Amino acid sequence: MQELWFDPSRCLIGGAWVAPAGGGTLPLYDPSTGEEIGAIARGRAEDIDAAVTAARMAFDGGWSRVPAAERGRILMRLGQLVQERVEALAMIEARDVGKPLKQARADAVALARYLEFYGGAADKLLGETIPYLDGYTVYTLREPHGVTGHIVPWNYPMQIIGRSVGAALAAGNCCVLKPAEDACLTALAFADLARDAGLPDGVLNVVPGLGAEAGAALSAHPGVQHLSFTGSVATGAAVQTAAAANVVPVTLELGGKSPQLVFGDADLDAALPFLVGAGIQNAGQTCSAASRILVEASRYDEVVERMAARYAALRVGPAVSDLDVGPLISARQKSLVEGWMAQGADLEVAGQARLEDDLPDGGYYVAPTLFAGVSGDHTLARSEIFGPVQVIIPFDSEEQAVALANGTDYGLVASVWSAEGARQMRLARSLKAGQVFLNNYGAGGGVELPFGGVGKSGHGREKGFEALYGFTALKTVAAFHG
Ligand code: NAD
Repeated sequence: MQELWFDPSRCLIGGAWVAPAGGGTLPLYDPSTGEEIGAIARGRAEDIDAAVTAARMAFDGGWSRVPAAERGRILMRLGQLVQERVEALAMIEARDVGKPLKQARADAVALARYLEFYGGAADKLLGETIPYLDGYTVYTLREPHGVTGHIVPWNYPMQIIGRSVGAALAAGNCCVLKPAEDACLTALAFADLARDAGLPDGVLNVVPGLGAEAGAALSAHPGVQHLSFTGSVATGAAVQTAAAANVVPVTLELGGKSPQLVFGDADLDAALPFLVGAGIQNAGQTCSAASRILVEASRYDEVVERMAARYAALRVGPAVSDLDVGPLISARQKSLVEGWMAQGADLEVAGQARLEDDLPDGGYYVAPTLFAGVSGDHTLARSEIFGPVQVIIPFDSEEQAVALANGTDYGLVASVWSAEGARQMRLARSLKAGQVFLNNYGAGGGVELPFGGVGKSGHGREKGFEALYGFTALKTVAAFHG
């Protein structure tokens, strides 16, 4: 790939670009064409071990003693370098992940913003003093864990690196990052820019590779003191199990089946762009995708009709042509999503986007599809599809809407569209979700807003200031002075 200024068949370990110890590579595909466009490193246990050792040396060797303000300055400098490279990073991500350029650009801008936010927060991570018995002074210290492992998926590499690696570095940890085998290029680009920003060698190490090899080795490594994982429920559970053997804390950001609840008094003009947009963004490959639209019976026909009209206007094509929807990440993901769609054979297809003419034959395109009249217990209303597929489910009462909304194993995000303030407040409390949005969806993705799930959507919080607590261990100091 001509856009790259580094060699993706290497890992970055201890500040040096090195070939994996086993010498292997994995093929790199362009999802828009299906063509093989390069090779990436196939790191394995030996490389993870070297990366963990390098991170530990960097931690003991000085990073843990660098003043918080200086750590923050380095992160903010890195944010500036990312900002200067937004176009290049977006082009790399579009080719690697298949996301339309405007979405890839937004991801790069978000990465810069995470670095700015966590850079600014580094020296504001305070402990507290605790009133206690006479003769004691008690206070808390927030200390970095040491070496943190970050296992990242392919759907939003830059945003997830920003929120997890950015926060971990700000808190004083040294990181080993294992990007997804389907999308590791911006992780490597980021690590290279971090060197330019003055991040000392070994503070950030990147080992691309397969989940079962590099990912499993990182989760089970006894030299890691905290793991941050984003991805599927099954893999998250495996990571947590491996970490448990070393009694290592884990943050899990897993999937979702997030609902938007549309009540009869909703402002539909305001809601519609979100009802569709939050479902098909990144071709539906988003953990917080709004894959379920719950609509009060009085507005049901109107919502179906207006969403269908939006589906008909969607343009689906190659990432670099920057249309509304790009291809899926891989041939495997396309076949998984098509398998799910086949399970909707008994449902009404209320809306479907048309693929552009003359799409490259080998691209992993799936036409966004809207199923209507779906019951809450249908497989497509309960399972995470991770593709551009939404279901519309009618409801008759607020009570039924809450039961439907809470009726899956997940609990990541939910939104409520209604003019009634009291209802908004009731639902904000009763919906099972880590984030609830009232008369919006996603609030523009603000980096300041803590994010994470309940139930099978995971545990722990990333984003916002809250993430910094997760990347530190709290120490209580009690001094007796009489
Ligand atoms: P995955 O969970 O298997 O992969 C995510 C990351 O985990 C990748 O870096 C992968 O290499 C790594 N990994 C895989 N197996 C591992 C193991 N045994 N130990 C440690 N790390 C391992 O997800 P996927 O296969 O890329 O996608 C499958 C499904 O996961 C999707 O269909 C979707 O439902 C879900 N998913 C969710 C998110 C999210 O943001 N919540 C992101 C990507 C995928």
